[in-house]
Amino acid sequence: MATLRFKALTDLVNKKAERLSPSCENISKYYSENVFDRAKMRQYLSPEAYESVVSAIEEGRRIDRKVADQIAAGMKAWAMDRGATHYAHWFQPLNDSTAEKHDSFFEPLWNGGSFESFKGSMLVQQEPDASSFPNGGLRNTFEARGYTAWDPSSPAFVLEGTLCIPTIFVAYTGEALDFKTPHIKSLNALDKAATDVCQYFDKDVKKVSVTLGWEQEYFIIDEGLFLARPDLMITGRTLMGNISAKDQQLEDHYFGSIPDRIKIFMEDFEVECYKLGIPLKTRHNEVAPNQYECAPMFEEANLAVDHNLLLMTVMHRVARRHKLRVLFHEKPFKGINGSGKHANWSMMTDTGTNLLSPGKTPKTNIQFLTFMINSMKAVDEHAALLLSSIASFSNSHRLGGNEAPPSIMSVFLGTTLSNILDQIEERITDKKLTPDEKTEIKLDIGRIPDILLDNTDRNRTSPFAFTGNRFEFRAVGSSSNTASPLIILNTAMAQQLVRFKAEVDNLIEVKGVKKDEAILQVLRQIIVETKKIRFEGNGYSKEWVEEAARRGLASIPDLPAAFKEFLNPKSVRLFEEFGVLNLSEIHARIDIRLEAMEKKIQIESRLLGDLAINHIIPTAVKYQNTLIENLKGLKELYGAGEFETFAAPQVDTLKTISQHIIEIRTKVLDMIEERKVANNIDAIEDKADAYYFKVLPYFEEIRYHIDKLEALIDDELWPLPKYRELLLLN
Ligand code: ADP
Ligand code: MG
Repeated sequence: MATLRFKALTDLVNKKAERLSPSCENISKYYSENVFDRAKMRQYLSPEAYESVVSAIEEGRRIDRKVADQIAAGMKAWAMDRGATHYAHWFQPLNDSTAEKHDSFFEPLWNGGSFESFKGSMLVQQEPDASSFPNGGLRNTFEARGYTAWDPSSPAFVLEGTLCIPTIFVAYTGEALDFKTPHIKSLNALDKAATDVCQYFDKDVKKVSVTLGWEQEYFIIDEGLFLARPDLMITGRTLMGNISAKDQQLEDHYFGSIPDRIKIFMEDFEVECYKLGIPLKTRHNEVAPNQYECAPMFEEANLAVDHNLLLMTVMHRVARRHKLRVLFHEKPFKGINGSGKHANWSMMTDTGTNLLSPGKTPKTNIQFLTFMINSMKAVDEHAALLLSSIASFSNSHRLGGNEAPPSIMSVFLGTTLSNILDQIEERITDKKLTPDEKTEIKLDIGRIPDILLDNTDRNRTSPFAFTGNRFEFRAVGSSSNTASPLIILNTAMAQQLVRFKAEVDNLIEVKGVKKDEAILQVLRQIIVETKKIRFEGNGYSKEWVEEAARRGLASIPDLPAAFKEFLNPKSVRLFEEFGVLNLSEIHARIDIRLEAMEKKIQIESRLLGDLAINHIIPTAVKYQNTLIENLKGLKELYGAGEFETFAAPQVDTLKTISQHIIEIRTKVLDMIEERKVANNIDAIEDKADAYYFKVLPYFEEIRYHIDKLEALIDDELWPLPKYRELLLLN
């Protein structure tokens, strides 16, 4: 009987690349056609309703019920024109995915007949029966109601016949149960703090938005092979597998030409994304075999996060149509690169200035330095919390590897900027500057743009790098919700800007220092304070680990500790000062993350045990039987002396296999015992610790022996597709 593995491999030969959506030549013709954007609003809404939505988007104004009815009617009319029959509140529970519950517009009447209805109240608020979303004990099941509330700043869209309305998700008692709620709060906090600081430079600035450009990395696997690997199917990663003889050593995949089957899949999902208004710009091969990346043009952060989540949904769906599977797991394969989701982060004023882009004049460059240097300080101040925000069970397999950002927080600026900061540190003093000195400094600062753009070197080993006109947070995991790190980054930046402004104002008002000089003096102070987090060297080197420890830099020690960083008094003060998370929300988030980790380890541990006992060991025994048969035959054929010579390799292999079988069995049984102990623990924290510190360490040990067996046993008997086969598509 052909094993699933061989069937999948045979089928693979016959799979052809087939385009599913007609390739449209001109993207702008259909771009955003499934989005209820401003153009459609103008067409489908009354002027009053339109104005009301726009002021909700731009100024956060509330929409009153009567107008909401009008908006809902217009939205429904548009959605039905696009073929929608249902609507759904679309939200982001605390589990790195999105949720939606579909209701139909259709309303049957009790005495016959029917009509289509969508009221303002249905648009503005819903009460999903949400007791089974992660809530960290915030909602008791008898009080299982949470509600979703419309977020007008992210436009509604039609996805496969359903009108989706982006919403926040909160408990009935008011606590946030999602990523979007605190993210929006953090964006507002940063807007206010940054707008205040901008007044030093430009009185016309009324609003500052955060810009986010994510780069999504992913793997693609053939569906047949995927289905023959229970570990990939259930956990998103391989729990065993020998490294292929050739993977990424020759560096022939990165930026190589994209194979047909993949390229057509990409074109198909891109068409869907364009229709949803996701401004994809870039696609290319990544470093590892079967690994790819796509990236859009940056957008306002709240919208960019929604678009990223939507992209992931669309990619999953389109991949299935192509008999492919997308893996967003951070480390699906041992020994080759993992996947990240670089978050390119900056701030933009409503006057169109990128605050992390060097300007053309000394004045705009002091503004640039102000935001750049304060960003660095914000990262320094809350480094451990930032690491916490990107820590997850799946990302932990990737971070700190030799190809991923180290799990130590540092900031890379590049030589040019570093030199500029060094000069500011040397030349600015508390003493009054002479007019000559002032002119000289101004001239130098005015020269930044010319040199910077050509000179930003690319240090790929840094978790947080300045890349010319933005910071790039590279430690973010490919499967995560980007709002998670942004909540911290935005809030930390808001806090830093508030502190900065207070110090500058103090110098101006109390000490009578001129504005520019006051700003430079405070910046100088920050440059001195943040020296320790600046690192230009190789983040993968052993020396850096030692050096970083000497500098006392934050790193991820272990996952449970990383999660608990949210409760550090410094973190709590930050969240509370800006109203981003309150204490019960903080506790809930820690519990949710601990529990998610513990459950994932439990699932992987069960699966690893199952595969080891009922896939791997029986296969090993089968092969032993073949060897035993062979030995019996040899014995019949040869006399004692010859037999011993000829039998030696088989006897040796038999023994080795037996040793591996014994190790695997003993370790699986021990692991199960540890699981039993862990399962009897009630307190979430202790249970998570037990899974992390007692159960998880068995994984590598068991895998070691399984991988050895994979290399020993007859290839025809091996039940699971091997790495070289899974990574065959390129
Ligand atoms: P690279 O691989 O060199 O980092 P990519 O083109 O893959 O570059 O991705 C860069 C990302 O950074 C894009 O999404 C781009 O839109 C984004 N980006 C550029 N400028 C900004 C900015 N000011 N704010 C936020 N993101 C930005
Ligand atoms: Mg990048």
